Amino acid sequence: MQSLLYSIIEANRSWTRQGKVANYIPGLAKANPEALGIVLITTDNQSYAAGSHETPFTIQSISKILTFTCALMDTPFAELSKIISLEPTSDEFNSISSLEIKNTHKPLNPMINSGAIATLSLVKGDSYAERFQRVFSFAKLLTGNEALPLNQDVYASESRTGHRNRALAYYMKSTDIIHDDVEELVDAYFRLCSLQVTCHDIARIGAVLAGNGLLPGSETRVIPKDICRIVKAVMATCGMYNGSGLFATSVGLPAKSGVGGGILAVSPNRMGIGVMGPALDEKGNSLAGIKVLEDLSKRLDLSIY
Ligand code: GLN
Repeated sequence: MQSLLYSIIEANRSWTRQGKVANYIPGLAKANPEALGIVLITTDNQSYAAGSHETPFTIQSISKILTFTCALMDTPFAELSKIISLEPTSDEFNSISSLEIKNTHKPLNPMINSGAIATLSLVKGDSYAERFQRVFSFAKLLTGNEALPLNQDVYASESRTGHRNRALAYYMKSTDIIHDDVEELVDAYFRLCSLQVTCHDIARIGAVLAGNGLLPGSETRVIPKDICRIVKAVMATCGMYNGSGLFATSVGLPAKSGVGGGILAVSPNRMGIGVMGPALDEKGNSLAGIKVLEDLSKRLDLSIY
C-alpha cells in the first residue's frame, strides 16, 4: 500500500502546475501550489501516508461535514428540512442566485456556503461562541487531535474579506431562514473554516464515517449510524459542489473538498482518505487531489457505483 501511494503521488505531481491556489481569501494565497499529499486510515486504524502529508492547510469547506453532522445530531430531521434542502447544485459554492431564484428561500444543500451558514444555526448552543465550541470539540474528537489549531491569519483574512458570505447570511435573514445575529453567525463560520489540519486529520474524520460512526479501531460510537448514512449520501451528491457529478463518475466515493486544497473521501466500511493539494481547478476543488483519488479508486477498485 505504501509504495502504491508513493507512486500515485509522483505520477500526479505535475498536475499541481495546472491549478491555482485560492486568493480570494488573501491568507490562502501563501500556500505552496506544488504540495501534494495523501493519508489513508482504515476503519481498524491502520494508516498509510505519502507526499506532503504533514503540510498544514485550513479545513475550509470540509468543516461543512462537521457542522452538518452536529446539526443532524442536535436538531430533528423534520426541523432541519424546513431550513435546508439536500439537493445538488450546478452553481458555484458561494452562489447567491440559487437562493433567490432556484429554491426561493432555502439553501440547496449543506455542502455549499449558504447551506453551511444556515446549518450552523441548527447546532446546539445558546450563543455562536457555544455553537463554534460544539463543532470545534467534535472536530477534535473525530480527528483525535486535541491540539487542533485555528489559523489566526486565515481567520482574520476571511473575516476582513468575507462579504459574500455576509451577503448570503443577510439574504437568508430576510427570508426567515436565519433568525440570529448575522455577524455572530458568520464569525463562527469563518472560525470553523480556519481550523488548521493535515491529511491525517481529515483522513481520520473520513475513517469515522467509513466505520459508520465508530472511532477507528474501537467500539466507541461518536455518530449514530443513520446520521453517517445521511452525511455520506449528501457528500456523494453535493460534496464537490458543481463538480460532484463528474467526480462520482471518475472517483465514485462520497467526498468533500475545501478551498484550502483538502479533499476528504470515504470508502464505506474500508477507509477514510485525506488528500491535500492547494492548486485548485475552476470549481474550487484540488485539481491534482482529484487526479490522485481517480488513480487510487481505480487501483483499489473503490468506486461505490
Ligand atoms: N471559507 C470559504 C468560503 O466561505 C470556504 C469555501 C470553500 O472551501 N469552498 O468562501
